[in-house]
Amino acid sequence: MTRRYEEQWYVPDKWRLSLHNYAPELRERYDFQDKIGILDCTLREGLETPGIVMTLNEKIKVAQALEDIGIKEIECGSPARLPAQYELVKAIKKETGLETFAAQSTRDPNWKQGIDICVEAGADHIDILGTARANTPDALDKTISRCVEMIEYAKGRGVHVEIGSTGATNTPLENLSKYYNAAIDAGVWRFTYYDSGGCITPEASANLITKLRKAIKDRVPIKVHHHNDIGFATACTIADLAAGASYCDLTVNGLGDRAGNAALEEVACILKMAYGVDIGIQLDKLWDLSRFVEKLCGIKSQPNKAYIGRNAFIHESAQHAIQILRGAAKPLAGETYNPAIVGAKREVTIGPTSLTEEILTYRLGMLELTYTNQQVATIGDKVRAVIMERKTNLTLAEFDNILREICE
Ligand SMILES: [Zn+2]
Repeated sequence: MTRRYEEQWYVPDKWRLSLHNYAPELRERYDFQDKIGILDCTLREGLETPGIVMTLNEKIKVAQALEDIGIKEIECGSPARLPAQYELVKAIKKETGLETFAAQSTRDPNWKQGIDICVEAGADHIDILGTARANTPDALDKTISRCVEMIEYAKGRGVHVEIGSTGATNTPLENLSKYYNAAIDAGVWRFTYYDSGGCITPEASANLITKLRKAIKDRVPIKVHHHNDIGFATACTIADLAAGASYCDLTVNGLGDRAGNAALEEVACILKMAYGVDIGIQLDKLWDLSRFVEKLCGIKSQPNKAYIGRNAFIHESAQHAIQILRGAAKPLAGETYNPAIVGAKREVTIGPTSLTEEILTYRLGMLELTYTNQQVATIGDKVRAVIMERKTNLTLAEFDNILREICE
């Protein structure tokens, strides 16, 4: 399938990306599918972040917030292994319109009962979760025959059945090809490629997706799952989608065990702004969603994180601050995109790099205060002293109070 890519590197008052993003030779290479779906993994993988404890009620609130921004499908874990994940599937089916995704391991000797438990809980999709990373051909054949048996059984229970291979990025292509093809022959509708160790580069991952599509003759859509151990989770997800994968696993704020997973906000915004691909997420609700999840899970995102970091739209440099105070943020006051895209607001903060004479006198003028050169110097000294003592910046209101104190 081919998609049209609009020239949209610069959209006034929305974003100004690199014009090189839209080079024709790049656009020719992309193979984004017309329909790209997300499986949100915040309530499974995200909850494996050390230190997160959430009640069922809180999880349901997160699920409802996800549904509200446009998520359609949500991962709930392994109901047969963990009672809390069984309860989660049930509650999500009851309280939301989301489709539920549950996994059943091929290693579980009681897998039949496990599949029954998934069905009983209300799972819409069952992922037969094994691995093609076998040491011998014999071991691979054994895994495949177990998978086929499980797929046939689960299909008989009337659910959508799919297959996953953990550690796929550490598995030879021949093994993956044999494993996925056998599962497709047995009737799965989709398969997942798990980069469990977060160890692949974007170029290698896209290359593997291209080869896998060829190996399975594009018979079913591919879903991708990336971890951020080497810092490439989002980049790999985007590269895979550009290579023709149709679904991706994402978490809010990039939550997940170890270094986390591909972040929903990053993938959704990059696809829209840099590739012109809309995946049906209401971007302007991302900021609030991020804050909401932070509050419920008790873990704050890094402040300089793209899109949802607390500092992402706060300006300290005098030059940018003046532009913003002037209301002349054209184009975008040193920002690549307007904070309103994700539902955030830009702010000015006064720190060590803001204290130029230009901003001091500019702000005094805005507040209609008269001043002498001596007072300007006193303000500079006072603000510096407060910042050094507190080891934090001043808000604009705090800054204004000092200006008034000295000049009124
Ligand atoms: Zn994972």
